[in-house]
Amino acid sequence: MKKFLLGTNWKMNKTLVQGLAYSETLITIIGQHPQFEFFIIPPYTHLWKIKETIDVHKSPLKLGAQNMHEQDFGQFTGEISPLMLAEIGVDIVELGHSERRQYFNETDEAVNRKALAALKHGFTPLICIGEQQADKDYDVSKEMLAKQLKIALTDVPADAIGHFWIAYEPVWAIGVGGTPAATPYVEEIHDFLRRVLIDRYGPSGQAVPLLFGGSVNINNARDYAQLANVDGLFIGRSAWEPDLFEAIMVAL
Ligand code: PGA
Repeated sequence: MKKFLLGTNWKMNKTLVQGLAYSETLITIIGQHPQFEFFIIPPYTHLWKIKETIDVHKSPLKLGAQNMHEQDFGQFTGEISPLMLAEIGVDIVELGHSERRQYFNETDEAVNRKALAALKHGFTPLICIGEQQADKDYDVSKEMLAKQLKIALTDVPADAIGHFWIAYEPVWAIGVGGTPAATPYVEEIHDFLRRVLIDRYGPSGQAVPLLFGGSVNINNARDYAQLANVDGLFIGRSAWEPDLFEAIMVAL
């Protein structure tokens, strides 16, 4: 039985000192919640030190990077390669977060190339997809999401799909000013995404964890978590303080 996934992307937040303090506290807290599998996704500069902390405590906490270049090395100023992340011992690479798509022009095709590279290097690719408010208004959310998912998974064979995690994060629900999604809507979309995965991959598609994210908080986490095709929660602001995160664990 797979454990329910609970994790947080820090985005461009926390200094290293703050991040280490958070990690120490979280490692202690998660020891009391072994029914969940936890992951954190700090900025690149923090990964090495936090990995040391995780190892010192022999903690099951998984560590992720917020992005990755698709090539192993080269003339790409400001980028981080899979080899560098592998050397640190990163478990997960988050790809295609809506902020990467919106502010850094990340395309579905780029997400696909990075996903294939992540797979090659043994990471868990955490692929984020999500429709815009306008897609929802025009009732084309499912088409948009199927397109994002199918392009991201191009050339991913059935025997590799089990390594992936997929996060559905409606863009209109993310961050300050985002509107939390209605539970039936999340249910409908997650059921749809599950069908897309099964159509493509058969039974292996059934096993791919589908996480939900976007303004997940203490008031809605339990409702989302109880949906049949929600296998994890991907939390931003509401998990950036260990005690707030712990309150969500307890509420589930
Ligand atoms: P939020 O962020 O929980 O702060 O809305 C979610 C995300 O961007 O993954």
